[in-house]
Amino acid sequence: VASREVKKDSTQIRALNLKVGAGSIGIMAGPCSVESKEQILACAHAVKAAGATSLRGGAYKPRTSPYAFQGMKEEGLKLLALAREQTGLAIVTEIMSTEEVPLVASYADVLQIGARNMQNYRLLEAVGKANKPVLLKRGPSATMEEFLLAAEYILNEGNPNVMLCERGIRTFEAHTRFTLPLASVPYLHHKTHLPVVVDPSHGTGHTYLVPDMAVASIAAGADGLILEVHPDPERALSDGYQSLNFKQFDETMSRCRTVATAL
Ligand code: PEP
Ligand code: MN
Repeated sequence: VASREVKKDSTQIRALNLKVGAGSIGIMAGPCSVESKEQILACAHAVKAAGATSLRGGAYKPRTSPYAFQGMKEEGLKLLALAREQTGLAIVTEIMSTEEVPLVASYADVLQIGARNMQNYRLLEAVGKANKPVLLKRGPSATMEEFLLAAEYILNEGNPNVMLCERGIRTFEAHTRFTLPLASVPYLHHKTHLPVVVDPSHGTGHTYLVPDMAVASIAAGADGLILEVHPDPERALSDGYQSLNFKQFDETMSRCRTVATAL
């Protein structure tokens, strides 16, 4: 269903002012985790001013360690809805389990399936039945074929609004948190009509590498970016070491606009 052979025209996905694909580049930005009212509202206003059309923020967090901050859960979803009310930004947030789908879908505009759940087939079917666009992240060791077949699980349940997100894969290389293969962008455009988004934050794992890889993603033809932005990255409760501060995000957006205009 996702194949270019089945549908030649690129699919565009819309949620409020967010438009991704078929000539539109959508920018989703915000903290790894929703941490407080002050933090999420500050992020929402800052990323909007810099040109984002969507606010990201996790309320249910898939943390490697069970001892790490697990997210604010429904309280976090309420804060995201408040941020949308104040800014008009579309909310993208992760769903970790099938039982959470109705609750998260009642607050979010885009449902994020995290890398760790790319092959959670019951969860893919559940978001396939939901009435909201889905951002499907590539599993850290999934092949392109597995990634595309995961998207089929969602599409086959009747939800046509799936964005594919390259967020880096696990390799032997340890200088970055994951290895970010940007050839995925033209490859996926060749294979599928679905929009392709890149996550340079998780893809590199280091703040200083994020701006250049964001710009490179746009140059490679990405239909969108998802970027971690925090008011005070050093004090973030998750993924601060790969988050941009407001100034860095604003500068990155200017550079991305320059490249997008030149394409
Ligand atoms: C995230 O977006 O914060 C996240 C957990 O990403 P991933 O699922 O790609 O690791
Ligand atoms: Mn994160």
